[in-house]
Amino acid sequence: MTQKLKIQLFSFVFLPIAVLLAPLAGFFLFAFVYEPEFFVFLSMGLAVCIGYLFVLRRRLVKKQSEIRLWIQDYGEQMNLVEAGIHQEQIAIQSYRDKIVNYAQLKGLTERLSMCLTLEDTSKTFTDEVNRLFGDKDTTIILYLFHSRTGALGISSSQKGQMRINIKSKKGDAYDQWVVKTMQPLLIEDTKSDYRFDVERIMPQDAREISSLISAPLMVGNKALGILRIDSPHEKEFTTEDLRFLTTVGDLGAIAIENAQLYERVEQLAIKDGLTGLYLRRYLLDRMPEEMSRQLRRTNQLAFLMFDLDRFKQYNDKFGHIAGDIVLRSMGELLTNFFNEPGMLICRYGGEEFAVMIPDCTRERALELAEKARGKVSEQTIMLRREKTQITVSIGVATFPKDAQNAKELIYKADQALYRAKEEGRDRVCMAS
Ligand code: GH3
Ligand code: MG
Ligand code: MG
Repeated sequence: MTQKLKIQLFSFVFLPIAVLLAPLAGFFLFAFVYEPEFFVFLSMGLAVCIGYLFVLRRRLVKKQSEIRLWIQDYGEQMNLVEAGIHQEQIAIQSYRDKIVNYAQLKGLTERLSMCLTLEDTSKTFTDEVNRLFGDKDTTIILYLFHSRTGALGISSSQKGQMRINIKSKKGDAYDQWVVKTMQPLLIEDTKSDYRFDVERIMPQDAREISSLISAPLMVGNKALGILRIDSPHEKEFTTEDLRFLTTVGDLGAIAIENAQLYERVEQLAIKDGLTGLYLRRYLLDRMPEEMSRQLRRTNQLAFLMFDLDRFKQYNDKFGHIAGDIVLRSMGELLTNFFNEPGMLICRYGGEEFAVMIPDCTRERALELAEKARGKVSEQTIMLRREKTQITVSIGVATFPKDAQNAKELIYKADQALYRAKEEGRDRVCMAS
């Protein structure tokens, strides 16, 4: 304390006390000298006052310490209330986030429910995932298992708003891990995650990947594929993101399964279950549009009608199941032989097949039919350890030379086939 302050304190506190005590001391002195009885009375009164003041002071000190404790208590209570308010604020924020997430999931389900085909569903799905998670640098890849081979393949991929081409078509080590474990995967920094050898992964794909999240797409116990998001930046994703991706993946998986079922039903409606060839109805639907296209281009269209020779006898000898095997191998032979774009092969009836060949002259149609007939007769089919063979008769007609419409073209080819049967089977006849 400075000297000046001390002097000020003295003048403000001690001076008034001295001024008050001085007359009192004088009064006491006067009483002591002139009125000793009164002095004794005064001294006792003063002693009582001083004692009372001491009691008052002790009470005051006690009250002060009580008040200090209350203040401490209230301080603690205030801290607790503040902590509670903070917790409540976190909970409110998390509810807000959840409401936003639910609204986003609602939008996702609505958009996915409008898709029918698998292609459309895959594209819409990656678009939606990009809307929910993506920025200009993140890449979204949807892998699906092939329905027949079971191999993993890319169904849709995009970076930002753009579709992109991913080099590792069957997935990299991260994707293989998800396929193997069927567990969601979060990698915050690929360089410090020692579960994966970054050096081995990098050469497969030139894209820079520093963090990623990936979730398996499951419907019940059935695995459909993987949904993956990766980023060239580290720590781009959190466990909360992975949880949300898993939920998004569950919704997407249902839509994908629906699209796959829809396509299978569609295929069943146009394809024959035994041979995998198109059904007659599909051919009849396609013929008029193909014929008008040929007319516009002043080209010809060839129509070939096949009928297996004496198939009834074959069935009777080897049984119906053996007959089915022959029909299936006939389907394979025709599919492999008539494999150019635009050629359409169908199972026309029981043991009858038809092939429509666009941009084809009469000469070429005859040549192709002859070659196909030769392939069928050369083919040996093993049944009950016996080498069996089958022959086929073929009728050929062309549009617009032999017929003016689809019905007439089929009739002309059928007539030519009838002639081939009459002339001894295992031969090709041209419509006349
Ligand atoms: P053609 O040389 O005159 O054609 O004699 P074909 O015996 O082939 O002729 P037909 O029309 O009398 O017999 C056709 C046979 O094809 C009758 C039927 O048993 C058989 N067939 C039709 N559809 C199927 C099928 O899906 N599976 C089997 N195994 N046989 C079938
Ligand atoms: Mg027949
Ligand atoms: Mg027949």
